[in-house]
Amino acid sequence: GGQQKVEVNILLLGAESVGKSALTVRFLTRRFIGEYGNIESIYSHNDKIDGREICFNVWDSLCPQNGEVTGHISDRQLQWADGFILVYSICDCASFSLVAQQARRIRQAKGTKCPGAPPVIIVGNKRDLRHRRTVSSEDGRMLALSNDCGFFEISAAETYHGVLLVFHELLDLIREARTHK
Ligand code: GDP
Ligand code: MG
Repeated sequence: GGQQKVEVNILLLGAESVGKSALTVRFLTRRFIGEYGNIESIYSHNDKIDGREICFNVWDSLCPQNGEVTGHISDRQLQWADGFILVYSICDCASFSLVAQQARRIRQAKGTKCPGAPPVIIVGNKRDLRHRRTVSSEDGRMLALSNDCGFFEISAAETYHGVLLVFHELLDLIREARTHK
């Protein structure tokens, strides 16, 4: 006992229909339900990892009108988040461009190079739709590398495991960043 509870605020960003809600619901319930509606919400999820209580606050955002073009992220979102998950679909080049803009926006606002900056993970979702792929794994990896972000390709539809890895990796990076504050 005596260990303090850890609380992390995680913001999911990305274009419409890339699977932000599918990732969120997978993480919260382990399930893929197929249809999610256009709801914006912050969910709290308690877990015990390596004997420590963790509270994940997950903000499943909606891309604002014309936000798809500008990559705008609100000040409130930038202030709230301890870490970011930027989601695109491997079948949707425009969604990849948006993630590129959002990664740059976060770096401008928060300076990802400095220790203590909020970590960012880029996620290429819908990996099960390989036959319709228009964004290569290399392009995803290069974007992540050049912006100091983590990178995963996953299928929220097919597996829970990849989604769990993304959230756990981000948790580790957030805790690491906190040691520099
Ligand atoms: P959001 O607008 O980013 O929240 O996207 P949603 O989570 O609502 O997903 C949009 C659509 O893509 C839904 O029909 C989902 O069932 C589907 N979808 C989400 N993730 C995947 C995936 O990994 N593979 C496939 N094939 N479809 C997915
Ligand atoms: Mg959604």
